[in-house]
Amino acid sequence: MASKGKTTTTTSTTSHAPTTSSTGLRPVNNSVGVDDLVMLTEVSENSLNGNLQKRYKEGLIYTSIGPVLISCNPYKQLGIYGKEYIDLYKGKHEFEIPPHIYSVADKAYRALKSEHENQCIIISGESGAGKTEASKYIMQYIASITGSSQDVERVKNQILESNPLLEAFGNAKTLRNNNSSRFGKYMEIQFNYIGDPEGGKITNYLLEKSRVVKQTTGERNFHIFYQLLSGSSPEERELYKLLPIEQYNYLNKSRAYTADGIDDVAGFKATRKAMKVVGINEDEQKQIFKLLSAIMLIGNISFNPDNSGKTPGSTAADRQLISTIAALMGVENDLLEQALISRVITTGQGARVSSYRVPQSVEQALYARDAFAKAIYSKVFDWLVRTINKSIEVKTKGKVIGVLDIYGFEIFENNSFEQFCINYVNETLQQIFIDLTLKTEQEEYVTEGIKWVPVDYVNNKACVELIEKKPFGILALLDEECLFPEGNDNSLLEKLGKHFASHSHYSKVPLTSKVSQFIINHYAGKVHYTIDGFLDKNRDTLFNDLVSLATSSSLSLLSEIFQYQPVVEELDPTTESSKAYDRLKKSGFANQQAKNAIPTDKKRPITAGFQFKTQVTALLKSLYSCNPHYIRCIKPNEVKRALDWDSDKSAQQVKYLGLFENLLVRRAGFCYRQTYAKFMRRYYMIGKKTWPKWEGGDAKRGAELLLEELAIPAGEYQFGVNKIFIRNPQPLFQMEEKRNQRM
Ligand code: ADP
Ligand code: MG
Repeated sequence: MASKGKTTTTTSTTSHAPTTSSTGLRPVNNSVGVDDLVMLTEVSENSLNGNLQKRYKEGLIYTSIGPVLISCNPYKQLGIYGKEYIDLYKGKHEFEIPPHIYSVADKAYRALKSEHENQCIIISGESGAGKTEASKYIMQYIASITGSSQDVERVKNQILESNPLLEAFGNAKTLRNNNSSRFGKYMEIQFNYIGDPEGGKITNYLLEKSRVVKQTTGERNFHIFYQLLSGSSPEERELYKLLPIEQYNYLNKSRAYTADGIDDVAGFKATRKAMKVVGINEDEQKQIFKLLSAIMLIGNISFNPDNSGKTPGSTAADRQLISTIAALMGVENDLLEQALISRVITTGQGARVSSYRVPQSVEQALYARDAFAKAIYSKVFDWLVRTINKSIEVKTKGKVIGVLDIYGFEIFENNSFEQFCINYVNETLQQIFIDLTLKTEQEEYVTEGIKWVPVDYVNNKACVELIEKKPFGILALLDEECLFPEGNDNSLLEKLGKHFASHSHYSKVPLTSKVSQFIINHYAGKVHYTIDGFLDKNRDTLFNDLVSLATSSSLSLLSEIFQYQPVVEELDPTTESSKAYDRLKKSGFANQQAKNAIPTDKKRPITAGFQFKTQVTALLKSLYSCNPHYIRCIKPNEVKRALDWDSDKSAQQVKYLGLFENLLVRRAGFCYRQTYAKFMRRYYMIGKKTWPKWEGGDAKRGAELLLEELAIPAGEYQFGVNKIFIRNPQPLFQMEEKRNQRM
């Protein structure tokens, strides 16, 4: 399950192997800083950052905040994921052993089995922070601690193999990460009654399809293109009409053909093996490769202006190229060219419908060309996910562990619609984090009969509402603007400014500024969004001609993927956008103008924003039904250097991840809580009345005697029904010190 072309070393490095004492517990003085940030003596962002740094420098990449695990990318193999580590963490309570990704996986698995509840592991962090690696270690851990009957092995294999397959099509070399996932993923594994995997389901989010046609200098297109070009046999090169890599416009502009640590030839082998495992047959594989080749060739199509008609038109510059592509795609030459250089416009209603063909300028044809390439690619990607899902589908309902590997909060120099969507999902994830953490905390205090005063925390509901509320959230206003024929980015910006003039999470950028932007005050900070392209990206239109062309293909895969309709929740007819659409339909003006913008079948187009919001809503619904576990990934430096801590960079991520908030919430009541039995098991040796052996039987009574003897002020602790709660870390330090002296 190691990423393509890489081998995972499992040799132990001595300094990281957790040593265990004779009692089976790890001596605390063995670690650097505090394992759990709730134990910090000084609760400040500085001390939080300092503690992470101190540990990181010693190669201790994991630290916890109560149940939340922080993981700092070491950029080197630490040898802490081998079989001996799996054995070490298997079935252990996190209290007994240093923080580790396996501890989180084990805890989720134990909870699934013992409490029979759905679990989810939410992994967040910026690009290159180690989210995907973390999710792979979790899958690997679960696979190795569960059964090995034939059926279970098949499912495990399919689940594990889905990974290299989706990485081939969904990952790319970026400036931040040579194997960067360009899509979000929620993978659910379903378990049978004895706790073995019996199936699962993958949901994918927002593939960065713009990468198919354009990449930043130094970045690559999706791995699969390079795999196909470097891993194909001479016969396949002929069959798929492959060209030397430098000849593809979609690949040669960014000046990067290779990526360190990525072996495309080996990757291609892995991709094909994975395809086989998930049930993609030879014929389907061929069709996929033909389409990939066609996509690359589409990028080479250029157009000449044609001014013979009334409106400026265009023609394809190279007929031969068109016919090669048409052959690969199983469509007619002429139809392909026509669909690129012209558009059918339909007007009127009912019996008076008429349609005519409008020539497209060179610029418009290029736009249609790129839109087509992106659409084919993203539809192939969705098909792959559906196919994997078919292979691991289970008919019965069972308990699941879901693993969410999704892009973290993004603040770039230029933030567009994509960042807006990404930050929106992060905002909602932060909201559920706060909801669920506080909820669990409060529930525990109630069941344990503990008195506590709830503290104030930053509530980001208002910000989530700003974005998604109906009828007047940003997404709704964006959709509405997309329906207006006259709507454009600037008219949207103006509307947003009017609607949210007094919203605490929204600000305008002064008109004197050269750029058209708006600002959202997210929980992680203020982000300036540039409005350019919002409408276009949200409409995400592909002209009907191209859709019907693809549907008519003799390539069954191509026609299937263009016929597939994603299931999207019914529109709420009470939303303002729908009302706006009705108004638009009724007004004579709109009838004249809107025909081109609104499909004649009167169905509202599904916008990218709407689709994303629907996905986010569904995701939240699943997550809320789970017992959550969190892994917060930090990328300690920009240069991928092992064990190098860039303080500013890291502190910024601590902020974006809301870790300090998290610590405050966790510390709000009590920094330490433990069952009496476990508490006594750890500390019985430090009390005169409890040593050599606590024979009293009643662990609660033991804890009372111990705390009394240590003269810990009564306000510092409370006795719950099953657990002891300690407010501040000082008494614990005192106890740990005594304990170390005794050992
Ligand atoms: P993300 O998914 O957050 O963008 P990745 O999981 O792809 O980041 O990690 C980026 C790179 O960092 C990996 O390819 C790997 O080289 C390195 N890396 C991440 N996590 C670890 C780890 N736990 N141990 C060693 N290297 C890691
Ligand atoms: Mg990733």
